[in-house]
Parts: sequence; C-alpha cells; structure tokens
Amino acid sequence: MKLRTIEISGFKSFADKTKIDFKDGITGIVGPNGSGKSNIIEAVRWVMGETSAKSLRGGKMPDVIFSGTEKRKPLARASVTIIFDNSDHFLDSKFDEVMVTRRLFRNGESQYEINKQECRLRDVLNLFIDTGLGRESFSIISQGRVESIFNSKPEERRAIIEEAAGVLEYKQDKKRAEKE
Ligand code: ATP
Ligand code: MG
Repeated sequence: MKLRTIEISGFKSFADKTKIDFKDGITGIVGPNGSGKSNIIEAVRWVMGETSAKSLRGGKMPDVIFSGTEKRKPLARASVTIIFDNSDHFLDSKFDEVMVTRRLFRNGESQYEINKQECRLRDVLNLFIDTGLGRESFSIISQGRVESIFNSKPEERRAIIEEAAGVLEYKQDKKRAEKE
C-alpha cells in the first residue's frame, strides 16, 4: 500500500486546488517558514478522520477552511482527497486504488466519501484503524508527540501499544456492542 496522491482545496493556506503526487522512494517537502508544509501533513491527518480541531492548530473545525488574505476572500469549503495504491489489499477494500475524500462547509456540514461513495466518519476511521495509519497512529509524528508518549499515563501508553498491536478495533467493537 502506498500513498500516491493528495489533493487539497480550500484547506488552510491552500486556497487553490493543489495536487501532490508521491513517487516511489522518499519524498521531502521543503519551503520557507509559513509556506504550508505542516498544513499538508494536517490535510493528510484530517482526511483520514482527525476530529480534534486543536490538534490541527485550530479552535474549531471550520478554522481549517481557507480564511482569506488581504487580496483574497475567505472560501466556503475545504476539501481534501487522498489516494492510496492498494494493489496489495493492505487496506480492507476490494479496490486496487482507494480514494478518500473529506469536505467541510462553513455551516459545519461534513461529507465523507470512500471511492466516491458517500460514507460516515466511522467508515473512514475503520478503514485505517489497525493499519498503523489511523488518527492515533505513529505513522505521523508531530512535534511534541515523542515527549507526550514518554510523559503519558500507563493506561494511555497501553492504548498506544494496543493500536500498534492491532487489537484496538476489536476493543472498540466490544465497547459498542456492550452499549447497544
Ligand atoms: P514552518 O517552517 O514554520 O514549520 P510551515 O511551512 O510548516 O512553516 P504552515 O504552518 O504549514 O507552514 O503554514 C502556516 C501558514 O498557513 C500561515 O501563514 C497561516 O496563516 C496559514 N494558514 C493556516 N490556516 C489558514 C486558514 N484557515 N486560511 C488561510 N491561511 C491559513
Ligand atoms: Mg511547520
């Protein structure tokens, strides 16, 4: 499974539709301070189901929508699409290419799609849970995260190990079943 493409539009500093193709090997993104490097990583986390505005450096979720500049009006919608090469079927999907889209409008309306089929946030989270890619995973390590893992309580650290071991999905299913 490989990250192939990300398309960002109206998300944070990316007012215009911006498409980044990832080739084989390692990709580095460089640019001056404030040019949007971290915003790209946040777009990846957001489309994979991040629900904490704070962890995206915002107060509330609509803060991710392009808020305008001196020369440009704010936009009404943020949209991010990510495409994975899934020819090894690492992601639990019959498709060789998995495309996930998330949109958010200023009125708070959200849309999620997997391969252009409308779905729920939970479906997006389930697609990535236990793959090492989910919103709680370690595939994206932001500044301060290493320190927070060291300083976390034993129960929190256990959850981290469970996610890494791949049992979190079953635990969450069990919790849901007990509630229902
Ligand atoms: P550094 O090298 O300092 O880490 P960076 O390349 O990671 O910088 P980012 O933090 O990704 O830069 O981008 C910050 C820029 O994004 C700021 O100029 C900020 O004004 C802009 N920005 C953030 N949110 C929005 C938004 N909702 N609308 C418009 N611009 C935004
Ligand atoms: Mg940065």
